[in-house]
This record gives sequence, structure tokens and C-alpha cells, in this order.
Amino acid sequence: MSQVHHHEAHVHDDVDQRLEYILELLRAEGGRVTTGRRLIVHALLTAADHHVTAEAVAALVQAEAPDVHLSTVYRTLDSLERLGIVGRVNLGQAGAVYHLTDHTHDHLVCEGCGTVTEVPADMISPLRADVLARYGFVVTPRLSVTGLCKACSSGTS
Ligand SMILES: [Zn+2]
Ligand SMILES: [Zn+2]
Repeated sequence: MSQVHHHEAHVHDDVDQRLEYILELLRAEGGRVTTGRRLIVHALLTAADHHVTAEAVAALVQAEAPDVHLSTVYRTLDSLERLGIVGRVNLGQAGAVYHLTDHTHDHLVCEGCGTVTEVPADMISPLRADVLARYGFVVTPRLSVTGLCKACSSGTS
């Protein structure tokens, strides 16, 4: 199994702690903690940028448990979405990615390469407050701001 190892020792503890926290939320929503659900939450926690397509989730799950069928992954993502544990972020033409909803955050979506970068919600909150005050408009939670990432915007080719 090829795997990127993080150098900081605390990274794995954080993943395990968040995994247990999310599974607790799942139980609180009346959901059962199945092996498939645990594997999918774990995949989203360890995926690069934590925002990946269903296919990428399936690949991560199958790296751990090759006998889990793709259709099971789709079905499990659906059930986790209904329970409010997982969210689907629509990226328009670029398709959709899945993410975990246990913490508030917003997105920077690159129109060049499709990368989704998670940003703390407090970066956007001054904008939310202004828009609400001036227009009475409530900005969607987990907003997606589109543009070009550093790599795409600095490419001069
Ligand atoms: Zn997200
Ligand atoms: Zn990009």
C-alpha cells in the first residue's frame, strides 16, 4: 500500500479523534455505525484536501477493504448524506465532491484544475455580516468561492 506519511505525530491522533466524534454524531442522528460507514468517514478524513469525488472515496475505501463494492460506497455516501454527516458540494461543470459537515468552513474552488481548498469560515464571515446588513441576504453556509488557485493563476504558458 503506497501512502504518504505525515511527519507530525499528532496528525493520526487528530484523525482518530475526529473519526470517533463524527461516529458519535452519526449515532446521535439515529444511524448505525457500520464498517462501510466508518471506512467512508475515515476516507474523507484522510483524503487530500478532504473534498473528493465519489470515485476517489471508493478508491480510498477499496485500498483498505478491496471487497467493498463501488455501489455500496455510493449507497453509503447517500445514507450518510441523509443523516447529515456527509455533504455533497456541487461544483457545476466540474461535477461534485463529498465532504464532512462536522465543522463549518467555506471553499475556494479552482476553475482551472478543479481543486477544492477548505478555508476557515471566519475568513468569509465579515462578508456575510456586510451582505446581511446591507441586503438582508443570508449567504449559504459552506460557500464556494470560484477562481484560480495559486498554481493555475501563476502559470504563464
Ligand atoms: Zn467542504
Ligand atoms: Zn488550479
